[in-house]
Amino acid sequence: MGEVLIRTQSLRTWFPKRKSLLGKPGAWLKAVDDVSLTIYRGECLGLAGESGCGKSTLGRTILQLVKPRSGSVRFDGTALRNLDFRQLQPFRPRMQMVFQDPRSSLNPKMTMLKILAEAIRANPDHDGDSILDQAVELADMVDLRPEHLFRYPHEFSGGQQQRICIARALATCPDFIVFDESTSALDVSVQAQILNLIKRLKQRLGLTYLFISHDLNVLAQVCERIAVMYAGQIVEIQESGRLFSSPGHPYTRGLRDAVPIADPEAKQTFVSIKGEVPSLVDPPAGCRFHPRCDFADRLCATRVPELQRLERHRSWIRCHRYRQLNFNQERR
Ligand code: SF4
Repeated sequence: MGEVLIRTQSLRTWFPKRKSLLGKPGAWLKAVDDVSLTIYRGECLGLAGESGCGKSTLGRTILQLVKPRSGSVRFDGTALRNLDFRQLQPFRPRMQMVFQDPRSSLNPKMTMLKILAEAIRANPDHDGDSILDQAVELADMVDLRPEHLFRYPHEFSGGQQQRICIARALATCPDFIVFDESTSALDVSVQAQILNLIKRLKQRLGLTYLFISHDLNVLAQVCERIAVMYAGQIVEIQESGRLFSSPGHPYTRGLRDAVPIADPEAKQTFVSIKGEVPSLVDPPAGCRFHPRCDFADRLCATRVPELQRLERHRSWIRCHRYRQLNFNQERR
């Protein structure tokens, strides 16, 4: 599939939940728990799952904004986990993040020019061209005009604010960008425009993305492959088209069946997944999905399934029973 840009191995990001009288953690919130995945240079990998399953924490851990408890993250061949603050600095400009809420991630007291100038200067390799010229070029990349540079964030619509956030992420000439629910707060028509922009920029600049969203329809529009996360673990990685046509994991099938069909003529048969998202402090034994799974048997409740590679489709799956289950069918 090409050159590897990011590889995580057995990554665990746990947060202390309660402390004992001696100040030791009494329990851990296991937001990311044994995650191994690969992101290839030039691809957009989607990360799907319900709220609270650890998606954002995984994105932040890859960028070293949160330190993992164990496991490794390799970026372009370099292991990042044990690098200190100073050693990480050369990697910071190469890895960027675009958040869900552009309003709260832009300083209201800075014009767009100042916001971009600050980011341009953060790149040690910036080429000495005038900051203004570079800011004009960045504005053009995200379809904003030079006169926008002298406006403040509150003078822009939500979609335009997100364009500024994308331009700011591009200002350091990154290799890799994490989009964390970056289009979730936008109207559907604005969302479509921003998704198109994101796709165009990837092709034009040869970028690599991790695109986090709870919305499979959004992921299907931008991602070549999608990783599905449940209760802190990856349960399936699959090419986008196949994820919809033949999901291998019962949880993935549940997510797919919960997506409304875009065709207004079609009979809407979407159903939500039964039960509650489990606690990340005390997840179920065995397969973490077993209390909600229609196909669970005794083994599922006691033995943790491994993430197994399915060679033929460059896919991975974590389910004891995937060979017996055949979801290669239309929606229920
Ligand atoms: Fe369902 Fe068992 Fe597969 Fe878990 S391992 S998803 S409980 S069939």
